[in-house]
Amino acid sequence: MDNEPKRRQHRSEAGRQFIDGLRRSLAEDDPWLAGWLQGMDGLDLVVAATSFAAERHAGQRRKDAAGTPYINHPIAVLDLLRQVGDVSDANILAAGLLHDTVEDTATTAEELEERFGPKIASLVMEVTDDKSLPKQARKRLQVVKAPRLSTGARQVKLADKIANLSDLLDAPPADWDNERMQAYARWSKEVVEGCRAASVPLARRFDAVYERAEEVLGM
Ligand code: NDP
Ligand code: ZN
Repeated sequence: MDNEPKRRQHRSEAGRQFIDGLRRSLAEDDPWLAGWLQGMDGLDLVVAATSFAAERHAGQRRKDAAGTPYINHPIAVLDLLRQVGDVSDANILAAGLLHDTVEDTATTAEELEERFGPKIASLVMEVTDDKSLPKQARKRLQVVKAPRLSTGARQVKLADKIANLSDLLDAPPADWDNERMQAYARWSKEVVEGCRAASVPLARRFDAVYERAEEVLGM
């Protein structure tokens, strides 16, 4: 259990040992039941990641004219991973919720590791830009690095690009002209090319949104 340390902080040591013992004996007798119990753990993790992301993104807004609360975006990414990508690995779902916390809030990799374990921290860092680099270099690096990311990180990237391109069409940044939206659509397609193999359904969903972008933006 990689995410053990802080997740069960609220449980007593005796309670934790009892549950772990029960889980071990169930795993021996009934693999299905053991898997189901692990799923419950995963649910705890996704709930904890939702609360943490909501807390960290509190007060932040998307760039659309209505100023949609920022947290809607990580939740949209979670929804795409689960409903379209059929992702069931709670580490990847939690990383989807947390994917913008390091880039856009005061959260650090160390903090994520301490709270959510090394797998989730590493997934989030894989999809986090180095903000010390100039913007154009960051954009280019996303394209170059995408094919070398882990499967989970590429799934998060796919969901992120689908969510952002959909937002661009349905609730565009208030001050963007058509040319800038087209440039964004083309760039996000380049990043997605490097991620496609990680999830066929997510890649297809991106294609559908991109086709809509071509129509709406006259590309
Ligand atoms: P930005 O990276 O500044 O903005 C896009 C990002 O904003 C998204 O990736 C998303 O990131 C976040 N976001 C927040 N709200 C929305 C929303 N409603 N819809 C979509 N995204 C949202 O964009 P760029 O600077 O890269 O601009 C796009 C293209 O336009 C680039 O290719 C650039 O070359 C070109 N361009 C840029 C100009 C500039 O001044 N920078 C000027 C003219 C053209 P997240 O998932 O992290 O929230
Ligand atoms: Zn994002």
